[in-house]
Amino acid sequence: MTGVVADPAAPLLRLEVALQRMLAGVAPLPAEEIPLEAAVGRILAQPLLARLTMPPWANSAMDGFAVRSADVADATPDRPVELTVIGEVSAGQPARRPVAAGTAVRIFTGAMLPDGADTIVPVEETDAPWGVAELPARVAVRLAAAAGDHVRAPGSDIRAGQPVAEAGQIVRPATLALLASSGYGTVPVHRRPRVTVMSSGDELVAPGATLQPGQIHDSNGPMLAALATAAGAATVRAATLADDLPSVTRMLSDAIGTSDVVLTSGGVSMGARDVVRLALESVGRLELWRVAVQPGKPLAFARAMRGADDVLLFGLPGNPVSSFVTFQLFVRPVLRRLAGHAQPEARERRRARLAEPVVKHDERRAFLRVRLAPDPDRPGGWLASLAGGQGSHVLSALAAADALAVIPEEIRELPRGAEVEVWPLHGEGD
Ligand code: AMP
Ligand code: MG
Repeated sequence: MTGVVADPAAPLLRLEVALQRMLAGVAPLPAEEIPLEAAVGRILAQPLLARLTMPPWANSAMDGFAVRSADVADATPDRPVELTVIGEVSAGQPARRPVAAGTAVRIFTGAMLPDGADTIVPVEETDAPWGVAELPARVAVRLAAAAGDHVRAPGSDIRAGQPVAEAGQIVRPATLALLASSGYGTVPVHRRPRVTVMSSGDELVAPGATLQPGQIHDSNGPMLAALATAAGAATVRAATLADDLPSVTRMLSDAIGTSDVVLTSGGVSMGARDVVRLALESVGRLELWRVAVQPGKPLAFARAMRGADDVLLFGLPGNPVSSFVTFQLFVRPVLRRLAGHAQPEARERRRARLAEPVVKHDERRAFLRVRLAPDPDRPGGWLASLAGGQGSHVLSALAAADALAVIPEEIRELPRGAEVEVWPLHGEGD
């Protein structure tokens, strides 16, 4: 299929231009209804309205006695008011006996407020035994209680019909709780993008395998699979690919048949064995190659078709740090858009001061691997120091980093103390 011509002399694409090309036409995947408890981390496909009012009825916020506020209006520690205890209501039961003047019903947190009662006196404000104890016949109340004290009004949390969640919102543990309490046992979420991750390179062997001379372990495969999963994908790993055009093409075709997104790493640079870009061109339409970012320049992107659906093919650079950074810059927003995120490109950004000077050698936007620490000279501020060597093979610095520092295209040098934008890592999808 035709696409852009891969021209190493062409100017490198700006990050935003490349990303917009990748996101063009990418829409959230269709919805599926899944059990509530499986939905954490998934993205809601519809706005949801409460099916129930919560609390459904007035209930007690304390363990104590349901009474009439008028009866205890004059109660003090010196002049307690004595009431006859006529029964008890615990959580999960309907309140049976109404509270008449001069009486009290023992009540527990979450239990229905009996008719007639308008306030709760906590057990601590009475002479009744607290904890597991027999129901007393009488209770002396030592403190006045106003109407409504320690009573949770119906609808004081949620009212039926009220919006409780928006389309495009991630389901967090607290969202699960809110949806459960407002009447949902299943929820509509976007289907997860199916991602196939494959590593290419004659030198690669599986993690843990014994190395022969010239071999290294495939570190991109596990990293990219984990990144894709954290960004909301259902991920599978394909076998490691040799640097051989027919076999890479065949593996890509197979992956296209089962995936929404295929991530390869390696083989997109300028070497004589870099066949992945050529394979992308033969199974799909190459839409871009080489972006003005550092690390990550050789990135390739293509689209293929599976029936009427687009399959997005990312040829990530082989250097592990380049793979990681280009995932963050390009793959993460695409996966989040497919997964239904309302703001697929959103991520945390902070300002930080450089703890040391930095130098850049060309006009690509650089993403330095840094560690953040509180700035001793500026309360609330951050200080960024290099997490180690900045070569695109230096995984030790990547693993030590907790943020990427962004150095704009036009800047070649920054002194110690210069302010830069930093992107904290280890949030959702990284
Ligand atoms: P390439 O773009 O294929 O020439 O790869 C660039 C560099 O990244 C080479 O040093 C490769 O050995 C290394 N590399 C490529 N793929 C992987 C991988 N999956 N895991 C670890 N290193 C890799
Ligand atoms: Mg290679």
